[in-house]
Amino acid sequence: MKLSKSFFRTLREVPNEAEIPSHILLLRAGMIKKTAAGIYSYMPMGQRTIRKIENIVREEMDAKGAQEICTSVLQPGELWEESGRWDAYGPEMWRVNDRNGRGFCLGPTAEEVFTDIVRNDISSYRQLPMMLYQITDKFRDEARPRFGMMRSRNFIMKDNYSFDRDEEGMDESYRQMYDAYTKVFTRCGLTFRPVEADNGAIGGTGSHEFTALCEYGESEICYCDACNLATTIEKAACKDDPEDPSEMLPMEKVSTPGTSTIEMVADFLGLDKKQTLKALMFETYGEDDKVNGYVAVFIRGDRELNMTKLVNALGVHEYAIAFADEEKMAEKCGCVGGFTGPTGLHDCIIVADSEVPGLKNLAAGACEKDFHIKNVNYGRDWKADIVTDVKNLLEGDPCPVCGAPIKHARGVEVGQIFKLGGKYSEAMGAYYKDENQQDNPILMGCYGIGISRTFQAIIDMPENHDENGIIWPMSVAPYHVIITLMKPEDEAQCAVANEVYERLQDAGVEVVLDDRKERPGVKFKDADLIGIPIRITVGRGAADGIIEYKMRRDADKVELSVEEGIAKAIETVNAEKDGRCYFK
Ligand code: ATP
Ligand code: MG
Repeated sequence: MKLSKSFFRTLREVPNEAEIPSHILLLRAGMIKKTAAGIYSYMPMGQRTIRKIENIVREEMDAKGAQEICTSVLQPGELWEESGRWDAYGPEMWRVNDRNGRGFCLGPTAEEVFTDIVRNDISSYRQLPMMLYQITDKFRDEARPRFGMMRSRNFIMKDNYSFDRDEEGMDESYRQMYDAYTKVFTRCGLTFRPVEADNGAIGGTGSHEFTALCEYGESEICYCDACNLATTIEKAACKDDPEDPSEMLPMEKVSTPGTSTIEMVADFLGLDKKQTLKALMFETYGEDDKVNGYVAVFIRGDRELNMTKLVNALGVHEYAIAFADEEKMAEKCGCVGGFTGPTGLHDCIIVADSEVPGLKNLAAGACEKDFHIKNVNYGRDWKADIVTDVKNLLEGDPCPVCGAPIKHARGVEVGQIFKLGGKYSEAMGAYYKDENQQDNPILMGCYGIGISRTFQAIIDMPENHDENGIIWPMSVAPYHVIITLMKPEDEAQCAVANEVYERLQDAGVEVVLDDRKERPGVKFKDADLIGIPIRITVGRGAADGIIEYKMRRDADKVELSVEEGIAKAIETVNAEKDGRCYFK
């Protein structure tokens, strides 16, 4: 590809809308363009990298015997009604009507469609196991689209579905996909960690997320170096201390003027935050989007609430709960903003974190402005409707498995795998007949990879970018080599550049020739920005058959003969194009 004849534009300025390096670099390198909030278009270089990631995924899926199909982005509402998810999916689902008023959605995922395909065509155990996949656009009207491809409203996802006759088969399919995912993300140049995950709204019995480790990721993971536990923070169980044996002291109401935060109360009373009780108020919504109830959650003062654990404990949808309008809640339940405690509440669901009953003599709000109560004790002074673990496992907390201190890391979820069991097949009637002509539900697994999210996450890896731009791993680079032609009007330079260009192409190397009439400085800047792994500069030395050879990831460059340069490029590309450290 010759740059002088292609659609290619880089930006010098940092676009306003971008907040994190990978998003800034994708926009500046001209690989993507924003079309609307959370909706992007891929420009030629970006599209090439997307294709490469897709092809790595294809190869690894095919290697496991999965077959590629393609289903429509438009999915009929009736299928989602069968699984019960038409209502459950909530406002993230883009819904559209056809001209007759029939409800459809733009598929956010495709469990229903794949279950439907299989239920009509699989009837016997002889047809199992089986795996189908697709790589298609998915649509989710995210509440907070952000960070470009990381959380967009339209993204590319590879989703596949396994169909097995029994648990053993399902477990084996799951293991195969775990292995395939490990290969995919390694080949893409990600530093990642598979972690145990919550099944969430999709249901089923087991799940792992594959988290690419990076500073700006929205996922927090907990891990233990002593016993290899690794889980998402949503899934991480907390191990509570044994009950505090102290005696219960009598409650004492104290004036605490203006102390509306836990820090202020603890300071004012000279207590550690661990000796206080923190209250968090929520309202829940019914199908008509009107408030249908209130929830008060109590956790130890220094703790953080985990929303996923709370949502699971309450059995509500994530989108059907939010922080309460405390004035309205006060009228009904008796809470007092900043001074709410468990002893003065009524007409709401009270949730206590699992460690709270074991704590003694806590300071809690008095449900009266500017007052707290000291020595509040669970059981004696108040009781909760639900007692369960709703807190985050914090860094340094004991590992729930072995007790060693827990560590935290941030990352972005690039893929997730689930054992679904019979959840969809039973709801939608996907059964097979076994050897004895008995009907059994087909056991399913589902497995997703965010292709467009991976595209951006690759850049977020510290080794894949620097202050000058992207540093693509060879396996996913839009091109392997960029030839920077210093003076397109110089005949000798032109001849050498074209020779290198053609001979590399003949050897199967993907080359871009920067033959634009631009200053060399501009060309070098652009080459660094778009991150092509190998740069061959053709300049003054061309008359003597000398070129300059540089890897984007290294600072140093070398002068080589044209022959040596071509040979070195071919060798490097062939060694790296299938993915870093994949072929050990
Ligand atoms: P998240 O927790 O980040 O919202 P999810 O759990 O809803 O993701 P899945 O339903 O497991 O995501 O989808 C499979 C994969 O699709 C994810 O692992 C992720 O890589 C990708 N993905 C999901 N939502 C988005 C999005 N809004 N933008 C880009 N990629 C996404
Ligand atoms: Mg997920």
